[in-house]
Amino acid sequence: MSVQRLLQRFRDPQRARALLEQIHTLAVHPVRLMEFCGGHTHAILRYGIPDLLPATIELSSGPGCPVCVTSAHEIDQAIALARVPGIILTTFGDMIRVPGSHGSLAEAKAQGADVRVVYSPLDALSIAEQNAPRPVAFLGVGFETTAPTVAAAVIAAERQGLDNFTVCSTHKLTPPATRAILETGEIAIDGIIGPGHVTTVTGSDAWRFLPDDYGVPCSITGFEPVDILRSVLELVKMIASSQPDVVNAYTRSVQPRGNQPAQQAMERVFEVTDVDWRGLGRLTQSGLHLRPAYSRFDALARFPVDVAAPCDPPGCRCGDVLRGNIRPPTCHLFARGCTPQHPIGPCMVSAEGACAAYYQYALEDR
Ligand code: SF4
Repeated sequence: MSVQRLLQRFRDPQRARALLEQIHTLAVHPVRLMEFCGGHTHAILRYGIPDLLPATIELSSGPGCPVCVTSAHEIDQAIALARVPGIILTTFGDMIRVPGSHGSLAEAKAQGADVRVVYSPLDALSIAEQNAPRPVAFLGVGFETTAPTVAAAVIAAERQGLDNFTVCSTHKLTPPATRAILETGEIAIDGIIGPGHVTTVTGSDAWRFLPDDYGVPCSITGFEPVDILRSVLELVKMIASSQPDVVNAYTRSVQPRGNQPAQQAMERVFEVTDVDWRGLGRLTQSGLHLRPAYSRFDALARFPVDVAAPCDPPGCRCGDVLRGNIRPPTCHLFARGCTPQHPIGPCMVSAEGACAAYYQYALEDR
């Protein structure tokens, strides 16, 4: 089946209508569902799903935008790294516009730092090959989805004996962030729309703790309208029957145990450690740093930098947005001082940021 025909199945209005009818029948009591993933937030708003759901269902966006949850301290470190004489700092496009405490990588580049946008860590590896012996640092950002590709680049650099390639890892793990949001009890969450791409790597078993420890159902799904509506229906069914479980509504990609070669690459290169999240603070065992055996590829171990105590942009409420505490239009800077052209906080920069999604698809929602 062609990709186009496959996509049509998941954008089919008749299937969407049938799912909506069932959702409207079952959702008689108010519930709040959180979509963990920023990709889901964009899809939900792009397809106008909140307007199709019954008023009893509230959708909240979660912390699943890796650029957004990168802390100001981590960005400050990356900027300091980019300013080390001779270094080429490489990263994904979104990252260079994210504001740190006093500027961004884009500003550091304008002031003379050699900052380059790449599409994958393997591009950074090529830059290291072409520019040896100049040191090349790849700023690794992302969840379980991107960490395996960075691990693969480190393994390739080791195999090639390419010792001018390094990684500044800000990789984070998604289950601890979800657990932290439930632990604080700041907002009541009745069900979680689980992240499809992350779970393709981790496997759906990684979310068992949601029903087992918190009695919260989870439905993992993809990014097309029928995927999302099916996930909502599965959650509403589990809530109505008081039988929380993990449902895999994305079987075309997700398996219970996930992608084991990808997990093995991560396990080989990274160790799990405590890290800071924007909006969530320091979370135990929630991030990935290079193992001591790979410290020669660790940018911050090779080129230690000192940065001052971080501060978030004044007035920016990204932390509240990332915890599902407020919807972006509640921030008084939304679409006023803060726009995708002139972002104040990271949630307006990233292609997965909730503020950028609301700006793009729901501006009239202010
Ligand atoms: S609208 Fe801008 S300033 Fe407000 S929370 Fe979002 S990113 Fe931060």
